[in-house]
Amino acid sequence: MSKVHNFSAGPSILNQDVIKKASEAVTNFNDLNLSILEISHRSKDFVAVMDNAVALVKEILNVPEGYSVLFLQGGASTGFLATILNFMSKDGTGAYLNTGAWSKKALQEAKKLGNLNMVASSEDNNFNYIPKVYPISTNDDYLHITTNNTIFGTQIKKLPVSRIPIIADMSSDIFSRKINVSDYAMIYAGAQKNLGPAGTTLYIVKDSLLGKNDRTIPTMLDLSVHADKGSMFNTPPVYPIYVSMLTLEWLKANGGIEWIERVNNEKAALLYNEIDNNPLFEGTAAKEDRSNMNVTFVLTDESKKEQFDQLWNEAGISGINGHRSVGGYRASIYNAMPIESIQVLVDTMKKLNS
Ligand SMILES: *Cc1c(COP(=O)(O)O)cnc(C)c1O
Repeated sequence: MSKVHNFSAGPSILNQDVIKKASEAVTNFNDLNLSILEISHRSKDFVAVMDNAVALVKEILNVPEGYSVLFLQGGASTGFLATILNFMSKDGTGAYLNTGAWSKKALQEAKKLGNLNMVASSEDNNFNYIPKVYPISTNDDYLHITTNNTIFGTQIKKLPVSRIPIIADMSSDIFSRKINVSDYAMIYAGAQKNLGPAGTTLYIVKDSLLGKNDRTIPTMLDLSVHADKGSMFNTPPVYPIYVSMLTLEWLKANGGIEWIERVNNEKAALLYNEIDNNPLFEGTAAKEDRSNMNVTFVLTDESKKEQFDQLWNEAGISGINGHRSVGGYRASIYNAMPIESIQVLVDTMKKLNS
């Protein structure tokens, strides 16, 4: 068992049983005496993995009929492009809510490939809140949102009311809470925060909206092709999909979204309570927008930095240095993070107090 309390923002913690099974499959997958790393993606054993991973996504998120679940490559950053090429018409405009570094990267791509309408931005306050009131024009092709802002520690709690299709980058909070898939035209998420290792990106996309765009779409970015081919247009990222499947099995076996949402609420409350009650710490995100996945905080007295850094290092805590654009600390407490590790961090914060 790992003795390190891994608060890394991404790639990030995976469940220990998942890692054990994943490592076994590297030497002997399904008792084939072959490694998962050296089998064909068209073999029946891998096809079963893909089918199972897709079925688990559908079951766990209650995906309605008419949506395709895809496991592709290129990271969420390629999702920025897939959004534009599949959903923004040649002369159309994409509406973007600018709530953090990843939102901004997404909208910068829209500026390059088409027209951008930034409906609202919280950059004026270093992205420490989620704008709530803004007009959404029905002239725009879609509204793009980032449901959890990994770097700044904010999370959209209430989906905007929109008459245009909503496309969501859920890289850092997918499978962390209940969502209504039918509210979205497309959801995409890099696997490496809440699902598996880096190397695959999950897409959940509404079939009826694909194949309608007047753009020329390069085949690798054409989601209708990937949907038609069941994510096997080209070689899929076999191993990341396998590990994602293991994570989904773990999630389902423990009680699925209802269970993990309850646990995530408890975990976040434990840490935010300490931040709010310990005068030596202060949260950086607006309270009502606080993320349950990435908890950002700073010391109120910078002179204690050396002492605190020594304390958490000694406690076996890893990966809590804040992103350079926020400073301070960021504790990423994704699905696989046990509450015991958060307790260790809280105890460490209390030690600084005494
Ligand atoms: C990590 C992250 C990304 C970037 O994902 P890549 O797979 O590295 O392209 C995009 N959006 C959000 C919200 C993220 O947390």
